[in-house]
Formats: sequence, structure tokens, C-alpha cells
Amino acid sequence: MRRIAHLIGGETASSADARTGPVFNPATGEQTAELELASRATVEATIAKAQDAFDDWSARTPINRARILFRYKELLHAHMDELAELVSREHGKTIDDAKGSITRGIEIVEFACGIPQLLKGEFSANVGTGIDSYNMRQPLGVCAGITPFNFPAMVPLWMYPVALACGNCFILKPSEKTPSCPLRLVELAHEAGVPEGVLSVVNGDKEAVDTLLQDERVKAVSFVGSTPIAEYIYHTGSAHNKRVQALGGAKNHMIVMPDADIGRVTDALIGSAFGSAGERCMAISIAVCVGDETADRVRNAVSTAASNLNVGPYSDGDADFGPLSSQAHMNKVLSYIDTGVEEGAELVTDGRRLKLQGYENGYFVGPCVFDHVTPDMTIYKEEIFGPVLGIVRQESYAGALNLVNEHELGNGASLFTNNGGVSRHFLEKSKIGMVGVNVPIPVPVAYHSFGGWKRSLFGDHHMHGPEGVRFYTKLKTATVAWPGGTNTGPEFSIPTLS
Ligand code: NAD
Repeated sequence: MRRIAHLIGGETASSADARTGPVFNPATGEQTAELELASRATVEATIAKAQDAFDDWSARTPINRARILFRYKELLHAHMDELAELVSREHGKTIDDAKGSITRGIEIVEFACGIPQLLKGEFSANVGTGIDSYNMRQPLGVCAGITPFNFPAMVPLWMYPVALACGNCFILKPSEKTPSCPLRLVELAHEAGVPEGVLSVVNGDKEAVDTLLQDERVKAVSFVGSTPIAEYIYHTGSAHNKRVQALGGAKNHMIVMPDADIGRVTDALIGSAFGSAGERCMAISIAVCVGDETADRVRNAVSTAASNLNVGPYSDGDADFGPLSSQAHMNKVLSYIDTGVEEGAELVTDGRRLKLQGYENGYFVGPCVFDHVTPDMTIYKEEIFGPVLGIVRQESYAGALNLVNEHELGNGASLFTNNGGVSRHFLEKSKIGMVGVNVPIPVPVAYHSFGGWKRSLFGDHHMHGPEGVRFYTKLKTATVAWPGGTNTGPEFSIPTLS
């Protein structure tokens, strides 16, 4: 059995007596590797290496770090096929989808290449007679990232390119389910010129995460994953005096107004609800239709389109989406669907009994569409993270917006309409971090920032874009009286601008 270890200080680090966990191919249900789970001592040794590398790395000029990132970008493009295969083999998503996610990650590297411009400070001449003031943003030190299974390339790339560009060292703790691509990403970073110790990968579980959260040498933690763990990471990291950004789960709504183009709405719902088997934090899982006529049209069009989708392994070029990530997750999704039926929602399209010839042990669930979902139901309240779309019927736009705003999760939401006034109202009044009009997945591009509101994000900073630079740097303000000014003698009251 292939054994996957860690990449610490530029070298593969492995220990024979390590605890291990299995890695699977979700399309076949076969175990493909044994993953080492780092002990506290292994993580502490990694932090020490990062600490040692910090002085040299942070002292380099921003343009030097940017040039390494330019080389990294080229290497990521050159290795796209290999990286996509690693993502798909362990996650199950289609190769096209994997490539799309890697491309979104490369866009963060492109953003980080602009670091000399992004780190420019502000300058004020003559804040007092002969006195100037300016500010600078300086790196924090050793930062850590803890990432989920569903985007093994893109989510790590949201974090470390920006952290490194700002002059920090970074330790990545990827998901135990999808470890191979993150390791390869970091190998390529070394090939591009990132020095040993500046970027490391430790694989592991709670023991590794808790060590990162508790060690005082780690100054900041970025987390992406489920809401309960995000909340734990935020509170534990903050209690240990770290800066923390912890992005959690989602239940994204799409409001469909009576004037919306139903063909466009259907395409949007099909792609965003079922793409990647619904295992995306920006998937639309609830369609709130305004008026019964709108709901009937959406239900008919979406259920017809859903029954025509191809579900298959990533090796099938015609597959629209693949399996769920693990047997446990598949069972959880199936149990949510059963609960939906028990609680009285109408299962219009039922993907529960999907069996693919030759892949009988794979974790496949076909598309499911529920109608008449109500806000008191479990399948409305909780994140399912599977290919399950619920239709909720509302009489008015005000009622639909109220649902969006009352939900405890606030990652993304969108509105489909031709009405400019309603659109503007929605963009302004929705209590959601990322909103869209007539787009299904309003994911911000690399040079804007990504993050939700409410229980979808704990902490103050969104990821990448300008917020990423703010998160990975601390602000310093300098006030300088240059030689040659007049000495006015001691001052005992606070200096003012008067
Ligand atoms: P998860 O919370 O189970 O795991 C995320 C990370 O936390 C992993 O690295 C895991 O090893 C670690 N972890 C798990 N349990 C832990 C514990 N008890 N203590 C310390 N660390 C622990 O999430 P997942 O199942 O890998 O990913 C799916 C979730 O991630 C979904 O809820 C999805 O919405 C969310 N997600 C959110 C975003 C976003 O941007 N908001 C993006 C992608 C995924």
C-alpha cells in the first residue's frame, strides 16, 4: 500500500511508528493509500523549521518573492493535467471541474505576484512642521492553514501564495481525505524557488490541528471547513492569541422572481446544485420561488433536466458529476434525503438508488429534487453537502428575502430577475457575504475577497484579495522628524495638529 507522509523543510518526512488513516478512491471504494497522521512532536519540529526560515524570507524584497511566484504560476500551468488527476482520484470530481478549481487557485498566485504594489504604504508629508508620517505592512511570522476535502488545490491556494508573498512562512494541514494534490503543490513551490522551511505540509487530524492552534510560535491560522470545526478553530486559536479567519459551511439560497428567464434559471440551478455532487460551499441548495406559478415552472424544468444528468467516475469524460467523497458522507446524505421524505417534503427526483455498472462500491448518489420544502424541515436548516436541491415556495419577494436573512448560515445567495429595483434592494439588504444577480455562484475573483457572514465565517477577514493581504500583515505607522528642524524644547501635553 502506498504510504503518504509529510513535506517538511523541503524533504519528505516519515516515521515508521506513526498513526495512519486510509485514503480512498470514491469512485471505486478502494483504498489507495495509507496516510501518516502527524504527532505533536512532528508538528512542533515543522514549526521550528518555519521559525528558522522566517528571518531570511521576510527580509527579501517583495519583488524577489514575486519572481518566485511568477515561476510557480508557470509550473502550476505546466502540471495542470497531473494535478487535476490527483484531485479527481481522491475527491471524485470530474477532470474539467478539477482543472477549473486549479485555475481559480492559480489566479490567486497571479494576484500575489503583484505584492510589491499591494504592500505599498501611505505617506503624509508635514504632519507637523518638518515631520512626515508613513505606514508599512509587515509579515506576522509563522502562519498555518487547515483545509477541507472538497477543494484540495484551490483552498490551499487561497492561503499560502498571499501569506508567502507578504513575507510569512506557512504550514499547510490539508484534509486527510485528499492529501496527494496539496503535497504536489508544495513540491512544485520548492521547484519554483520557495526556500526550505518557508512552506511545509503536515498531514494529520485533530492532534496536528490542536498543536498548530496552541503553539505560541504560530501567529495566524486560516481555516476552511464545516461550521462546528470553524467555530472551534476560531475560539481555540483566539484564546491562544492568534489572528484567526475560519470559514464554515453554507446553505445558499437562490430567489427566483416571476419575471426571471426560466431557461436561464434552470441551467443555473442544475450546474450550481449538482456540479461537484453538491460538494461546494457555494453550491445553491435552496431555490426560493416567488409565487406558485414560478415554483411549478422551476420544478418541472429542473426535475426534467436533473433526470438527464450523467453521473459517473472522473475517468468518464461524459460525466456531469462524480461520487461523494466517502462512504460515511454518502450515508449521511442518504439519511438527509430519507429525513426530507419523512418530514413531508415531496421528492420529485430521487437519486438514492443509483448503481453504476463496474462501480458498484463507489459512493454515487444521483440528483435529488425536493418540492414543498419548508423552513422548519431538517433538509432546509442543515447543510447536506450533496446533490440535493430543495424548492421552497413563497408568496412574495419580501418573504423570500426574509428566509435568506433568517438562515443562520450566510455564505452566498443569488437572485434571478429582470427588475433593477428588486436587484438593488436584494444586494443592499441581504445579510450574506457573497451575493449575485442572475449568476448562480457569485464567487469573488482572486483580486476581490472571499468569505461569508453569520455562522459561515468566524473572524474579521475574508480570504485572498485585499483582505488576504491585511490578514497576513500587521500595520506599523512611522512618524519621523528629519534632522534640521527646530528644537522647541520639552512638550508635556499631547502633540496636536493645531
Ligand atoms: P471539516 O470541518 O470536517 O474538516 C476541515 C479540516 O478540519 C480538515 O483539515 C480536518 O482534518 C480538520 N478537522 C476536522 N475535525 C477536526 C477537529 N475535531 N479538530 C480539529 N480539526 C479538525 O470539513 P470537510 O468535511 O473537510 O469540508 C466540508 C465542509 O467545508 C463543508 O461544511 C463546506 O461547506 C465547508 N467549506 C467551506 C468553504 C467556505 O469557503 N466557506 C469552502 C469549502 C468548504
